[in-house]
Amino acid sequence: MLEYRRYLIMTKKTSRIPGLHKLSPKERLQQVVEAAGLSEEVLRHLGNTGNLDSATADSMIENVIGTLNIPLGVATNLVIDGEEVLVPMATEESSVVAAVCNAARQCRSTGGFTTAMSGSLMIAQVQLTGVRNPEFARLQILEHKADIQAVCNETDPVLLKHGGGFRDLEVRILHGRTGPMVVTHLIVDTRDAMGANAVNSMAEAIAPLIAEWTGGKTYLRILSNLADRRLARARATWSLEDIGGADVRDGILSAFDFADIDPYRAATHNKGIMNGVSAVVLATGNDTRAVEAGAHAYAARSGQYGSLTQWEVDADGNLNGSIEMPLAVGLIGGATRSHPTARITLDIMGVETADQLAGIIAAVGLAQNFAALKALATTGIQKGHMALHAKNIAVMVGAKGDEIDNVAQALVSLGKVRMDIAEDILKSLRG
Ligand code: NAD
Repeated sequence: MLEYRRYLIMTKKTSRIPGLHKLSPKERLQQVVEAAGLSEEVLRHLGNTGNLDSATADSMIENVIGTLNIPLGVATNLVIDGEEVLVPMATEESSVVAAVCNAARQCRSTGGFTTAMSGSLMIAQVQLTGVRNPEFARLQILEHKADIQAVCNETDPVLLKHGGGFRDLEVRILHGRTGPMVVTHLIVDTRDAMGANAVNSMAEAIAPLIAEWTGGKTYLRILSNLADRRLARARATWSLEDIGGADVRDGILSAFDFADIDPYRAATHNKGIMNGVSAVVLATGNDTRAVEAGAHAYAARSGQYGSLTQWEVDADGNLNGSIEMPLAVGLIGGATRSHPTARITLDIMGVETADQLAGIIAAVGLAQNFAALKALATTGIQKGHMALHAKNIAVMVGAKGDEIDNVAQALVSLGKVRMDIAEDILKSLRG
């Protein structure tokens, strides 16, 4: 640490840039490039914000200096609730889009995916502390259900107009190290919005009333990302014929069994599911962290972290897959409306409700899991990854244009996707 400070003093580098937030993105970029001692080329590179103009980017987050483009792919072959759907996916990871296309193709003959939602209810929590009589306070809060409903609904008349609003009230007593807390859950239908801002505003409006009714002190007033009243469900059948026989099916079942009894495996199993889920969530401008937090908390709801999917065999010996997970996504609010690309991705899918979007995302998560389990149970995951991985390695060693494909193909045919070999191939290609 001391060495690093000395280095900063010697090089006159500092992370203090007073007033940076008041500058335009262009001015900020100039300052950061100077502070980091970077080149004119970097300035030009970051100055190009692609299809997200810098004024829009600047209105979305703080201290904007540029934008980061990542590939937007489209998954084909999906049939969801009887509709043919093209699904945009934003991801930096190779093989994710291809995996969904392959999995979806293999369940077309059985009708594709069927989806449903448990509802579009979000939970906001209000934490009350400093009460010696938590049971008494709980009842005092419950008695005010009608008042709470009125205040919540007054907070968001637009949501009310769209058929949403307060739905129910629950009050829990928790015992923490700092004493008992009485936690009020406001259960709110947020319709086509993810609903974080909507329910947070309601919790803030209710908190002083709860303090007044009970004589306690309210602290936290915020939504829960464990959106277990907003579960998306998707299921599909893969026939033995389509997947290549009983051995493949049994390998998938055994892989699922492993994930469901071992958190070390389950973490990777669910990471694969989230490869698909997060890519669609991001492409549509929704909150990836909110969905991820909800998914993992839900996977651990029994006390042991397990699989988000289930795999079984039906009476005909075919493979049944199903997924159930919280999916708090919206078509309104956040970046879903402000990011121009996010709006277009919704048009590509043709979704009209947040429920439809959540169903599509759940289907993609299930498809992703099928593809990963099938690859793991048969050829291994690396074979499918190789072609794209080889391209990445080619780019990393400096291949440009046609060289990228040529180097990648040579690596794959050698069966050795390594940077040292890629460098040798590139050198020999360039003569
Ligand atoms: P928002 O407040 O921008 O928009 C929602 C509002 O739009 C509703 O309250 C309603 O008034 C209006 N509306 C118009 N038409 C509607 C319709 N058909 N259905 C429902 N509402 C309609 O956004 P939000 O969805 O409340 O919040 C989402 C944002 O909050 C995201 O950007 C997220 O990242 C952020 N956020 C998340 C967390 C968290 O997850 N912990 C916390 C804070 C903020």
